[in-house]
Amino acid sequence: MARHDPHSYTDLAQGRIRHIAFQLEADFAQRQLRGTARYLLDQPARGPFDLDTRDLDVRSVSSSGRAVRFTFGKEDPILGSRLRLSDLAGADEFTITFVASQAARALQWLSPAQTAGGRHPYLFTQCQPHHARTIFPCQDSPSVRFTYEAELRVPAPLVAAMAAAPMGSWSADGATAFHFDMPQPIPSYLFALAVGEITSRDLGPRSRVYAEPDLIEAAAWEFAQIEDMLAEAEKLYGPYPWERYDMLVLPPSFPYGGMENARLTFLTPTMIVGDRSLTNLLAHELAHSWTGNLVTNATWEDFWLNEGWTTYAERRILGAIEGEDSAMLRAATGRNTMRRAIQHFGWDADPTRLKFSQAGIDPESVVSYVAYEKGYSFLVRLERIVGRRAFDAFTRKYIAEHRFQTITTEAFIDILRRDLPQIFGQVDVQNWLYAPGFPADAPPFESPLIDEVSNRLFDYQEGRLPRREDVAGWKTAQTYLFLQYLPRVIPVDDCRALESAFALDRTRVPQFLSQFFEIAIRSGYRQALPRAEDLITTVGRMFIIVPVFQAMAQTEWSRPLARPLLEKVRPRHHPITVLAMEQMLTQLGL
Ligand SMILES: [Zn+2]
Repeated sequence: MARHDPHSYTDLAQGRIRHIAFQLEADFAQRQLRGTARYLLDQPARGPFDLDTRDLDVRSVSSSGRAVRFTFGKEDPILGSRLRLSDLAGADEFTITFVASQAARALQWLSPAQTAGGRHPYLFTQCQPHHARTIFPCQDSPSVRFTYEAELRVPAPLVAAMAAAPMGSWSADGATAFHFDMPQPIPSYLFALAVGEITSRDLGPRSRVYAEPDLIEAAAWEFAQIEDMLAEAEKLYGPYPWERYDMLVLPPSFPYGGMENARLTFLTPTMIVGDRSLTNLLAHELAHSWTGNLVTNATWEDFWLNEGWTTYAERRILGAIEGEDSAMLRAATGRNTMRRAIQHFGWDADPTRLKFSQAGIDPESVVSYVAYEKGYSFLVRLERIVGRRAFDAFTRKYIAEHRFQTITTEAFIDILRRDLPQIFGQVDVQNWLYAPGFPADAPPFESPLIDEVSNRLFDYQEGRLPRREDVAGWKTAQTYLFLQYLPRVIPVDDCRALESAFALDRTRVPQFLSQFFEIAIRSGYRQALPRAEDLITTVGRMFIIVPVFQAMAQTEWSRPLARPLLEKVRPRHHPITVLAMEQMLTQLGL
């Protein structure tokens, strides 16, 4: 068996899935997703055919009406269980009936109380990196792409959305069957569905936003610039390859900022702040339409190729819309976030390398902003050597040559050798891609917007606190950068003064609150605690709440409150968020 991906049992020598026809049914009473799927292969199966599964109940396998023998391998804590079909006997199709239970890591079943509207239950998926196998048997490696069609039956009056083209629906017997078609081939990690009280608004000729009715108006306003962003992205990277770019705003327990599910990006509701200031995240998910979804990392070991390139493309799109000064400001905040991640892992730890062997390692345990920001810095380093014009031409060729394919870090180095050979005399590519820590020759980010923040930080060190009028005109990313650079422990009086200067008592920007509450708790500003607890209770996005929760657990006076808070939010949040909080308490012996 030739395993090419440490996180999948896929054996590419056995052939590849090229199309799946799903019949799915969401049962909210039993919290089960039941399905039958007919798989088409790219060639007749000559020997055994292996699929990834995890916590998945497989009821039957057949081919052309004949039962097919199947066996499960030993359960692996990271990979799950290999499902082996042993006697396909030259067939290039088979059908599997399966049930995904509440244990499925890709599925999040929400009670009505966990939604924005509070009236109906909700279901959504998160398959990246290796959780599609908990919904349906698949070759759960980014290097296998398939098209699909799906019928998804849901109880009325709920609505189903999938990261695919909607093909209509019909209702009978208290249920509605929604039909979808995915004509562009995707890797399994981009399979996505959501079911709930969902409505939609058109934003442009090829864009629509879906959300709960309570959020739809605000979402439509916040994301109204999507067609402008699409136009800028197309100027840089060529025609948009997925026909439509739609967005789905999830309930508050969505653990991530966004997920670039092809044709239907999933977004956190914490982006909706009423001033369009957090739409950099939207530019990021849109950029994935080229870098990630179209040209895809071959394995999760090559994740930086998805995220480093996408962070680069995101800032190019924003640079075109908001100006380069603003893009560099965002780059500066991103680098700070990455530095904290490197400090967390340790400067010589493997997760600070852009590529390292992840055999036996859960990819979710090592994912961090290193892939995004160290990858971004590497690409900016190359761009500044060859010039933007040459780098853009290189990027367009790279994307055009690898459309709907996957790529490894090593293949990317070969492309650099072929197309940008001049960089090798100036950059230690091996060091950037394989060494831990952060290279000394990283490109600096300069912008008058950054200088203004630096000046105020210098003033603060000298004992001069910013006043409201000094910072009232600041961009969101400037305030964020200022808060990032503040020491984590400051005098309580300063907490109070900064809260007032930056209007932190009424801001809707969750990144500000995350930074401020962390400082407030560590500094002993106890009046902030009820609002910090409220943030951890109502927001499920890990990036926002985990640092605040960590501050609570690590600080003497708030420590006794951490465990009760976790127990309170346990039923509200996504299992992955709860797991991150639980691990934090376990490490501290709480
Ligand atoms: Zn991304």
